[in-house]
Amino acid sequence: MASVELDGIGKKFGDVVGVATQSMTIHDGEFMVFLGPSGCGKTTTMRMIAGLLEPSEGRVLVDGEDVTYDAPKDRDIAMVFQNYGLYPHMSVGENIGYPLKVRGLSKADRKAQIQDVAERVELTQLLDRRPSALSGGQRQRVALARAIVRRPKVFLMDEPLSNLDAQLRVSMRAEIKHLQQEMGITTVYVTHDQIEALTLADRIVIMQKGVIQQLGTPEEIYNTPANLFVANFIGSPSMNLINGSLENGIFTAPGGVHVPLKDSSQKNRANVVLGIRPEDMSVCDAVGAMISGVLYNSEMTGDAVFATIDVGEARVCARGDRHLRFQKAQKVGFDLDLDYVHLFDGKSGARL
Ligand code: ATP
Repeated sequence: MASVELDGIGKKFGDVVGVATQSMTIHDGEFMVFLGPSGCGKTTTMRMIAGLLEPSEGRVLVDGEDVTYDAPKDRDIAMVFQNYGLYPHMSVGENIGYPLKVRGLSKADRKAQIQDVAERVELTQLLDRRPSALSGGQRQRVALARAIVRRPKVFLMDEPLSNLDAQLRVSMRAEIKHLQQEMGITTVYVTHDQIEALTLADRIVIMQKGVIQQLGTPEEIYNTPANLFVANFIGSPSMNLINGSLENGIFTAPGGVHVPLKDSSQKNRANVVLGIRPEDMSVCDAVGAMISGVLYNSEMTGDAVFATIDVGEARVCARGDRHLRFQKAQKVGFDLDLDYVHLFDGKSGARL
């Protein structure tokens, strides 16, 4: 086990900033997830930790030791990628045991360890098969087993589940989390899937254009997003964001939006964005509601109904009981749970 410290690390590709100067510490045994849209710098950061890419500036420290210029093989870091990287001419057992063979372990020692790891990831019955005779999920388990068998200081996983179907992704997700907790190995995991990030992570790093937008626990990221980017990026359907102004503790916006804030100490502001998640609003009578408008659309997703209304220039969505039904162009009101109202500066996007 080990901590991983990124100390003022950054990467430029010619004029393109892949990752701007960043610092952070991934604690011993922690599951850290890098999340962000395509091109935000997740993989570049991961590759610098792995030693596959030299940073333009800064240092990578593993357990306090500077490894910035060490070769990948000297870092005691195991990687699992989305394309698995299995050796097609070797059996499952040989694939799993390969890192041990490289280390020079005897055949008997290798066999015992392969058995042990195969049991953990439920591959015992498949050890003699070739990778070509396995399903996607089974191949992914072989890749995991090969990483685990090394007992590395750090696991790096780059979108390891992205080639699997939805159901398998959910079960592999649980398996990865279980294994990581059981083994306590420091893990850095890259994904653009927010559910994967929220469910797996001890802490999440959200990046955009090479810059860390927020680093926090899943609860912190979801409940107190640091800025408009994070607020909009996390949550599905995403947080409603309404442009308006703030005066004497009351938020107003075009279309008759009128929200008396719980925290009345907020300064008066002309340009402010109110954020509220669909699940923190309830459908009510249009008369006297904090937000009201004409129904644009309603969707039943099985366990809930999402109602969308047009209010001034905004389109606002609320999550309601699955039995709710609406009529076309009906007037609908939403009340807000004032404990979960977010405010952001309209110009900088920063949380207020
Ligand atoms: P994705 O989810 O699509 O894999 P990512 O968040 O992992 O995206 P990176 O691959 O880290 O993003 O890329 C970050 C930025 O650096 C992007 O703008 C990308 O175009 C750029 N970049 C990455 N590798 C190179 C390279 N070898 N040469 C030039 N630019 C690069």
